[in-house]
This record gives sequence, structure tokens and C-alpha cells, in this order.
Amino acid sequence: MKYGYECQECSGGTVKDVTKKNYETVVSGQKFIVPAARIGVCDTCSAVNYHGDELRKWRKIFESRRNK
Ligand SMILES: [Zn+2]
Repeated sequence: MKYGYECQECSGGTVKDVTKKNYETVVSGQKFIVPAARIGVCDTCSAVNYHGDELRKWRKIFESRRNK
């Protein structure tokens, strides 16, 4: 998976790969903190992009925690 593509929001910026620690998101309608989330942030308009592979990873972490 890779970011680094052209931003769809402003059509001028580049979506950069950014790793956020303890990134708060919502999975299946529930708040969830991702320990180390790789998200894409546009260097021009700051639009946030989520890669499909990354979202699947978060869901896996979320489900493994819920089942404990
Ligand atoms: Zn942009």
C-alpha cells in the first residue's frame, strides 16, 4: 500500500504518508484508538485519505481487542 498520489480534493497537492500514534477513529460506530495509524495527508489542503488496506488492518485490531 502506498500514498504519494495526487490529491483528489484540491487536484494539485500530493497525499503524503504520515504515521500517527494513538490515532482516534471510528470502527463499526465505536470509538477506537489505532496505536500507529498510517494515513495520507495532502501537503496542500490537508485532506486526510485512508487506504483500504490500512482500514482492514484497523478493523482486525479492533475485532481482536473486542473478542478478548
Ligand atoms: Zn489536497
